[in-house]
Amino acid sequence: MRELPPTAGLPLNVTDLRPGSADFAAQATAWLGTPPLQLECSGTAALVVTLHAMRKLKPERHEVVVPAWTCPLVALAIHRAGLVPRLCDLAPDHYDMDAEQLAAVTGPDTLAIVPTHIAGRVADVHTSNTIARRAGAFVIEDAAQATGARQDGRSVGLLGDAGFFSLAVGKGLTLFEGGLLTARDSAMRDALMASHNDIIHADPRMDRQRALELTGYALMYRPSLLSLVYGNPLRKALAANDPVAAVGDDFGPDIPLHTVSRWRQAVGARALPRLHGFLQETRKQAQRRLERLRRIPGIVAFDDAAGDEGVWPFLLLLMPSETARDAALKELWTAGLGVSRLFIHALPDYGYLRDIVAPTALPRARDFAARSLTISNSLWLRDSEFARICDVLERTASG
Ligand SMILES: *Cc1c(COP(=O)(O)O)cnc(C)c1O
Repeated sequence: MRELPPTAGLPLNVTDLRPGSADFAAQATAWLGTPPLQLECSGTAALVVTLHAMRKLKPERHEVVVPAWTCPLVALAIHRAGLVPRLCDLAPDHYDMDAEQLAAVTGPDTLAIVPTHIAGRVADVHTSNTIARRAGAFVIEDAAQATGARQDGRSVGLLGDAGFFSLAVGKGLTLFEGGLLTARDSAMRDALMASHNDIIHADPRMDRQRALELTGYALMYRPSLLSLVYGNPLRKALAANDPVAAVGDDFGPDIPLHTVSRWRQAVGARALPRLHGFLQETRKQAQRRLERLRRIPGIVAFDDAAGDEGVWPFLLLLMPSETARDAALKELWTAGLGVSRLFIHALPDYGYLRDIVAPTALPRARDFAARSLTISNSLWLRDSEFARICDVLERTASG
């Protein structure tokens, strides 16, 4: 069966897998045009390393402010660093944190605020900077979903005190798992490197596991085979009424912290020269498809503001109601068309985070979780298939 991935990952060529060795961080630095990047084994590990460094700089502070609708791994990373997540509700009909709430939850105990570039879109970092500066806190840009996104001609991740990117499966260029980390300020970069030396170690067993997983990705990431590794497990999880497992949000408390093998770095370095063209193609496709989506009454499709040039792994939509969203997904989620959801819940509603995040009234984050859906921006999604998706959205949004 033909099965499309939920996001536009950069496909690997089998020849990318030949033996070799590279300094991936150096090549990614040249590609992104950032200050020197530090390679970590995941975006989550990059956040743990960052928080470990910042905690040493301001040991009296214990809280990290995050959007209440974000990747659950962010909460797990904060916990792993010995800190406490403090949730900020969202702005109306938006993935950004609400400015008033952000000011209210940030204070003398705040170590850092984490504005988050969701779905490849460019987040509002300026508000976080203003509020953090007043409180004496740091700002960490979570650009896990936005590698390659630019604002005013520069990579995202550089307005705050530190920023990180993810190289996980599904987020564009992948080493199967990986993360990149940087900071504008060289003293902060030294602190991040010291933190890495402190808590990250070689792990040959993880190297072997990730090498196998990356090889599997290179072989299976194609519409003719994705039902085996993505579609069928998804349909099984949904049949068992487990949407968290269906989108792969069912994380355990264990966060691997290890170095990345030179071979996996070489694979990434070989794919990297194809990334620019790939991002251009996906950007063009997204712009064309957004135009169609905007003609459907009642739905919000997120786009770039002037001056922003985001990346387009998928299109993020808000439907007019949870009922409409669920009706659309009933037809589309299991259809192999790459329609899915991003984060299933606001953070306190994940059972496995119960001891990590405090129960909090978060009406907008819960509403966003209830009304949002995503459409893959894979170049494999044909115009005819996209048109079918739009027909369903049109019908369910008005029904
Ligand atoms: C995926 C993701 C992370 C974690 O990155 P990994 O590389 O998967 O560990 C952090 N924040 C956001 C917003 C993410 O989507």
